[in-house]
Amino acid sequence: MKPNYPKRLHIAQLPTPIEPLERLSKHLGGPDIFIKRDDQTGLATGGNKTRKLEFLVADALAQGCDHLITTGAPQSNHCRQTAAAAARYGLNCTLVLSGEEPSLVTGNHLLDKLLGAHINWVGSQPRNEAMDDVCAELRRMGQKPYQIPLGGSNVLGAAGYVLAMKELTEQLNAQSLNIDFIVFASSSGGTQAGIVLGAEIYGFRGQMLGISVDHPAEAVKTQVAALATAAATHLGLGQLSVADRVNVNDDYLGGGYAVVGQTEREAIRLVAQKEGVLLDPVYTGRAMGGLIDLIRWGAFTRGQRVLFWHTGGTAALPAFTDKLL
Ligand SMILES: *Cc1c(COP(=O)(O)O)cnc(C)c1O
Repeated sequence: MKPNYPKRLHIAQLPTPIEPLERLSKHLGGPDIFIKRDDQTGLATGGNKTRKLEFLVADALAQGCDHLITTGAPQSNHCRQTAAAAARYGLNCTLVLSGEEPSLVTGNHLLDKLLGAHINWVGSQPRNEAMDDVCAELRRMGQKPYQIPLGGSNVLGAAGYVLAMKELTEQLNAQSLNIDFIVFASSSGGTQAGIVLGAEIYGFRGQMLGISVDHPAEAVKTQVAALATAAATHLGLGQLSVADRVNVNDDYLGGGYAVVGQTEREAIRLVAQKEGVLLDPVYTGRAMGGLIDLIRWGAFTRGQRVLFWHTGGTAALPAFTDKLL
C-alpha cells in the first residue's frame, strides 16, 4: 500500500522527537510512557495543526488563493497556526472566532493579532455560516479566499497525520522501540483519522486511543472513520475501512470543552514538575489526565509501552491562569 500524497509545503520541524518520560512513569508505577513532541513543530509555538497546514496551504497556493479563512474557539490553536502559516507565505488571513471579543487579549488570541490575522467574532451566528459570509465578501472585493474547515480536519489535513505515522514508524524501527498504545487528544477528528489510516498503511500494530475533549465517543468515532475512509480514497488507496481500529474514550469531558477542572490541573502540574514538559489546558491536559486515570485504574500492565502524542496548545496557558492556579 503506497499512498499518493498531494503536494506539500515544508513548514514543520520534522521529525519531532520521541522522549521517554521516566520520572513520570516511575511516579505512576504503570507502563513506560513516551512522548511524541508535536508541540515542537516550530510554527509560532507549534502544535498538530502544522502538519495539516503543510498540505492545506500547499493546496491554497496551487489554486492561486491569496487569503486563508478558518474558524475555531477564541483560544484556537488551529487558528493561531493558520495565521502563522499565512504570514509565512505572504497570504492574508481571516479568523472566524466563536462568541464576542474577550476584554483581555491573551494566549492564542494575542498571537493571532501579532501574526496579523483579521478576526471576525461571530456572536450568535453559526461559525460555518459566518465563514461563508466572509468568503463571499472577500470574493466581492476581488480576493481569492481559501476556506479551511474547523481544526483543518478534511482529507488534506488528515494526510498530515498519515505522513506523521510514516515518521513515527520509522523512528520506532530505528530505535527498536515497540509501542503498545498511542494515546492523544481527539476533537475534530483529523489527527485521529490520519493516525489510524497511517497505522494501517505503515504496519503499526499497537492500539490507538483518542481521548475526546468535547464530543460523545460515538460521534467522534463516526467522524474519524468517515474521514479516514475519505482520506484513503484521496490518497489513491481505494476502498479502505479502518473503523475497527478507531477507539475513543469520552470519560473525561468534565464540564465540557475548554472547562478546566481537577483532571487537567493535576495532569499539567504533574507532567510539568516531573518532566519539565508543558501540556495545554484544553486538549493535552485533558488527554494526559485521562491517561493518568486509566493507569491508576490498571488499564495497562507494567512493561507495556504507551506513547502520548503531544499535540501542542501551550500558547493557551496564560488564558487559563485563574483556573490553573
Ligand atoms: C486541534 C487540537 C487537537 C485535536 O486535533 P483534531 O485533529 O481536531 O482531533 C488536539 N490537541 C491540540 C493542542 C489541538 O490544538
